[in-house]
Amino acid sequence: MELIAGTLEKVFEGSIWAEGPVWIPQSQTVRWSDIPNNRILEYSPETGRTREYATDVEYTNGRTLDRDGSVVQCSHGRRRVERDHDGVVSPIVDSFGEQRLNSPNDVVVAKDGSVWFTDPPYGILPGTVEGHEGEQEYGGCYVFRFDPRTRELTPVVTDLVHPNGLAFSPDESVLYIADTAGPDRGVPYRIAAYPVAGGTCGTGRTFVELEEDGVADGFRVDVEGRVWTSAGASVRVYAPDGGLLAAVDVPERVSNLCFGGPDGQDLYITATSSLYRLRTTTRDTVAT
Ligand code: MG
Repeated sequence: MELIAGTLEKVFEGSIWAEGPVWIPQSQTVRWSDIPNNRILEYSPETGRTREYATDVEYTNGRTLDRDGSVVQCSHGRRRVERDHDGVVSPIVDSFGEQRLNSPNDVVVAKDGSVWFTDPPYGILPGTVEGHEGEQEYGGCYVFRFDPRTRELTPVVTDLVHPNGLAFSPDESVLYIADTAGPDRGVPYRIAAYPVAGGTCGTGRTFVELEEDGVADGFRVDVEGRVWTSAGASVRVYAPDGGLLAAVDVPERVSNLCFGGPDGQDLYITATSSLYRLRTTTRDTVAT
């Protein structure tokens, strides 16, 4: 089956670094972060217009839809994961024991309501334009699981250098996590796969390794378990066995993507200054 059913369309231009898209079923819009401009944008396919959803947002990054329709998002500036419920923003988690998180980057909510997120240092590094300079207080860059019922925060993956995008397989037996540290830090750009059981992760393996200029940052998994990922200035689709199924060049470096649109089959792609759309023949498990 052809996975891609149309050509790439640019639907917005005007961000510095676009990231963290999610489809909002309630408003039928795509919401995403323009991180250095410290704002959140929303595009309506119905009107073709983009508006500023919020400004002075403390450098939000990745986001996902929760089961109740609210949005769970990462804030570099507040060094936390937070909830946006109809525009009212409240904290979910901001510390590991007594120590602050680094700068949560991307987040998913599991079927049991637990919140899984990555915590690399990009929003606190010296000279950052994506947050505020600060210390790595707990000394690592972990992937965490937060249980909103017990308020317990558990590190589930501690052996990646800069964990970034993450997504579950449809049955939640596998957690895919991108590592964006790269050759400068002595590791390849890659997506790792970890078996999931009992609310934690087992030993990880490399799912796909990307060439030097093909950073995988954010990605989504479709209903058939295929991984749709940013990969440098392209989007690539990998089968659950790691085989490359499709590749689409994008004129700018891609950070992330999400499925959306009225039937969930439009792929929205955040790429540097722009938001792009690509028609597909599939959808993800949480798009609408
Ligand atoms: Mg990211």
